Order: sequence, then C-alpha cells, then structure tokens
Amino acid sequence: MRKPISLYLPPGFQRYDCQLCGACCRAGFAVVTTEEERERIRAQGWEQLPEFQGKKLFVRGPGGEYVVGQREDGACLFLGDDGLCRIHAKYGEDAKPFACRPYPFILLPVGGEVRASLRFDCPAVVANEGRPLPQHRAHLQALAAHALPKGARAPAPPPFRDGLTLEWHELCLVAAAFDRLVATESLDITRRLLACADLVGLLQQAKIEDLKGRKLEGFLGNLTRWLKEGVAANPLERKRPAAGVLPMFRQAAGLYARLDRIAETQESVATRLARVARRLSHAVRLLGGWGMVPPVREGLPRVRWSALERPFGIPDAECAEVLARYYRVKLDALGFCGRAMYGWPFLEGAGALFHTYPLILWFARLFAIGKGKERVDAEDVRQAIRVVDRPHGTSVALSMRTERLRLRFLSQYENLSTLIIWYGT
Ligand code: SF4
Repeated sequence: MRKPISLYLPPGFQRYDCQLCGACCRAGFAVVTTEEERERIRAQGWEQLPEFQGKKLFVRGPGGEYVVGQREDGACLFLGDDGLCRIHAKYGEDAKPFACRPYPFILLPVGGEVRASLRFDCPAVVANEGRPLPQHRAHLQALAAHALPKGARAPAPPPFRDGLTLEWHELCLVAAAFDRLVATESLDITRRLLACADLVGLLQQAKIEDLKGRKLEGFLGNLTRWLKEGVAANPLERKRPAAGVLPMFRQAAGLYARLDRIAETQESVATRLARVARRLSHAVRLLGGWGMVPPVREGLPRVRWSALERPFGIPDAECAEVLARYYRVKLDALGFCGRAMYGWPFLEGAGALFHTYPLILWFARLFAIGKGKERVDAEDVRQAIRVVDRPHGTSVALSMRTERLRLRFLSQYENLSTLIIWYGT
C-alpha cells in the first residue's frame, strides 16, 4: 500500500468550513476540465434540461483550455438557485470537475510533501469561520494524491531570484523568516510589512549561496532581529511616492478590481468593442487620477481619488489580525511563488505578495469612505482582501509580461516601502 503523502496544513489559528454561500461558484473562476470530466458530465444529461437549452456546458477559456460554461454574470452554469452545485447535489462531490473540489484550499507540492494554502476570496476563510484546519486533514489527504501523483517526481523548486536556485528546505527557511516578521505582535501591522519589504530588498542583494543549514538559519535569525529593531525605531515618515508610482499603482489596482468573465470569450464583436472602449476610458482615468474612481467593478463605491490619499492612521489590532493571518497562510505554504504565482521566482513572488498590503488598504479606504467612515475597520479589510486575493496568481491579465513588469517596478524596495507607509498610516 502506498504511504500517505506528507500533508502540511496552514497554521492552527486558521479555520474554515463552507458556509454554503455559493460565492466561489459566482466568482467567474475559469474551471478547467479534462476530456474525461467533460464526457462524464455530458453523460449526466444536463443538456436535456430546459434551462440548459442554447447553453454550452464547456467553452474555450482565455488560455485555450476547455472550462465550465458560465452565465452572463459570471456564475457557473451548474450553480443552483439554492447556492449549491447541482452536479455535487445530484451525483456527489467526486462527480464535479476536480478543479472545484479542493476550493478554497490550494494544494502545492513542496519537495516531497504537499502544502495546503487557502484562497482568501472565500468569505468563510477571510472571516475565519468553521472548524480548525486539522479537522479537514482526511479530505485534503485524499486530494493531495492528485497534487503529487504516485510515481511523479517532486517538482523542482522555483528560482530564489534570477540566477540563484535554493533547495526547497532552504526556501522554507526563508519563508519562515518572513512569517516571524509578520507574526511579531509587538509591532503594528504596517511596521511588520515594512520589515518584510526590507527583507525582500536585502535578500535581492545578499550573497547567500554559500550559506547552508544552520548557517542560513543563523543568518536569517540575525537579520530578522535586526530588521524588527530597525522598524520599531522607524518614525514611519509619510513621503509621497515618487513621480509615476501612484499612476502605476492605480492601474494595478484597476486590474485587481476587474472581473474577467468567461462569457466575454463568447460575446459579439460589437459588445467586445464596447467593453474594450469602456476599459480604455477607465485606464485613462486610472492613469490620470482625477475626479472620481471609475466603476471598474460593480459595487465599488463612487469616491473622489483625492479622498484615498489622506492619512488614515495605522490599521488597528482587529485589522492586523486579519492581515497577519492572510500573509502567514500564504507564506507558510509557499503559496506566493512558483506554481502558485505564474512560475515566478521566490523573491519576486514575495515582493508581489507584500505589494498587496498597500493595495488591500487602498480598497479598504474605498469601502470605508463609501460607508461614510473616517477610518478603515476589520470589515473593510476583509472585503478588500477578498477583492485582491481573487486575481492574485490566477488572473490571466496579471500574468502578462507588461503587468509583471509593472508589479516588479511597484515591488522594488524604494517604491514598495513608500507605498506601505503611504497607505498603511
Ligand atoms: S461545477 Fe459546481 S462546484 Fe464547480 S464552479 Fe460549477 S457550481 Fe461550483
């Protein structure tokens, strides 16, 4: 009998249980299917039902693969009025596409083990609702075998940075150093993220290729202690980001807010042209930053740009709990680089992950102002994390070369630390 795959779960402070809200099946995700899955689902006879007439069960997704069809509003064709998956309800969990089954978990092979990360676009995950994660072990253990099939070679680690590759266990040591910084409750959350940005910047330059085992651990331990002392003494001077940074940042925010729908691949030329024209007009306004924030996504409040740029203060302890949990779950499973982030190197993925801090707080400000509040609270932060985590590592647009270059620019040490203080204070 095959030995069970070693499964590593996120830290014990994270909980989850499906609350049957159906949000994941309405979110417009591209549910990629195999030929076997398509045949199996077709054989279930859905096309004979009146509500499926004229609908395609599977369509070509943005990457050319076959994905489950969606309605105009981005909801999956199989989502029932009760918010439940109709395939699951009628034929059981094993009958639906495999891509749907682990959600909101992401199972990532890390060396010879599988690590579970979580998607924070799920309302239950971000609200920390449900049972402690160890109680999901049996379910995840079965799915882990798909993430690392029997006989398959453990995947190679992503590069640490351009031109340097480390072993998986060394990447885990570096991720643990970031985790220690994020977990330091004696520091406010903005200083914790600032220390992470400092660590990314230092590791981009550090000569660590000869540091192995204990030496690497010792080096990272000293560095994190020194960084904590440094940020604790930092008065967090709020300096306007350099020319060009805010327009780039606003464009990145627009892209994170945008919901790309599978139905767009099926639309007529006229509809497509109208959509492209609308997006171009939004892009111009995002670049200029004048007037009101454009309606890049339904439900975003109409707020003047200038209102988002004033000081808001450092997020309080309740906001810090949500934010720290978000970053710690991603760091723990290495769910921010390699396969979880378009194959990007470790440090590039870490920079992009910490760049979500100013992005999350930008959206949280938008939601807070929309509700007439002067400061952001934990509810605004939860709402903002759901927006930002949805496309991070999954959106085709963000994987494009131009957007990768934009995120690289915004994650450069000077730009990232300035943005963290600008929106984190
Ligand atoms: S197939 Fe079922 S579980 Fe998957 S997205 Fe559609 S409704 Fe949701």
